[in-house]
Amino acid sequence: MATTKVAVGPMKVAQVPKAGGDFEIVEREIPKPGAGHVLIKVQACGVCHSDVLTKDGLWPGIQYPRIPGHEVAGIIDELGAGVSAWKKGQRVGVGWHGGQDNTCVSCRRGDFRNCRNLQIPGISYDGGYQQYMLAPVEALVAIPEILSDVEAAPLLCAGITTYNALRHSGAMPGDLVAVQGIGGLGHLGIQFANKFGYKVAAIGRGPENAALAKKLGANIYIDSKATNAAEELKKLGGAQVIMATAPSSKAMSALIDGLGPNGKLVVIGATFDPIEVAPIQLISGSKTIQGWAAGTPADSDDTLQFAELTGVRPMIETYPLEKAAEAYARMMSGNAQFRVVLTM
Ligand SMILES: [Zn+2]
Ligand SMILES: [Zn+2]
Repeated sequence: MATTKVAVGPMKVAQVPKAGGDFEIVEREIPKPGAGHVLIKVQACGVCHSDVLTKDGLWPGIQYPRIPGHEVAGIIDELGAGVSAWKKGQRVGVGWHGGQDNTCVSCRRGDFRNCRNLQIPGISYDGGYQQYMLAPVEALVAIPEILSDVEAAPLLCAGITTYNALRHSGAMPGDLVAVQGIGGLGHLGIQFANKFGYKVAAIGRGPENAALAKKLGANIYIDSKATNAAEELKKLGGAQVIMATAPSSKAMSALIDGLGPNGKLVVIGATFDPIEVAPIQLISGSKTIQGWAAGTPADSDDTLQFAELTGVRPMIETYPLEKAAEAYARMMSGNAQFRVVLTM
């Protein structure tokens, strides 16, 4: 699946020149898609906290310069050899799952999500912070007409992650499900949890997000600054699931006692610090802690179609590609409301 590069015209890209380096806006030649690949004219690309892996070189083996971006929405501009299931002009997206090897033990079992050689756009190959991008066909997702490019982009990472984590959590309609953190992930998690028919408790720090959490579909708002959130959940009978979205291991650790019998802490807020838990906290009540990473492009299909069906939408701030550095800084500040999206 080699890709060759031939000049057909200039395009702008926002690249990271080296681990820890500042963004550079440079012009590159538009690449040609190799066999099994398509060329996408990128229309929008979400700026995700995981882009820090590329920006700061926290993922092993990244080759620089590298163009980040794994929340891509665009239009197929050209088909590589052997591509038959997709058409030129078709609206497509690419998310975190940017391709699998189809040969490892996980792939042989159909568990593509856990492919040992998972390809990630913006890490394994150049991602969506550019005007044209190459992608292998197994990474493509069709975008429903009703979703705009800037709406679809964040659904391909933040959206699929919260949707997929919740739908595999074991929680049933009517169960108490808590969403910790009202940010890029959490504001989508609350909406999905509401549409899944859960009794939704949103956990935020301070009173300022209470009204918004309710508007997004939370039945209960818990201010973890003013109260002990785990105690509040216990008073409600204990949560069947707590989906932890804010990247704070300390905050996650403090919530474990808020789980009900057979309850599960589902961890999707990525951080390198350890979660602290005493074995006895898990043993009494048979509690579980589980991590969850995004999903396959087929899961993204489900996410986008569910969003189409139910009206779940990301709240976004948009920046032009030329302001990628500013957009990234805004995302890193934690003050964005809530997903930052680049437009080309
Ligand atoms: Zn992401
Ligand atoms: Zn594999």
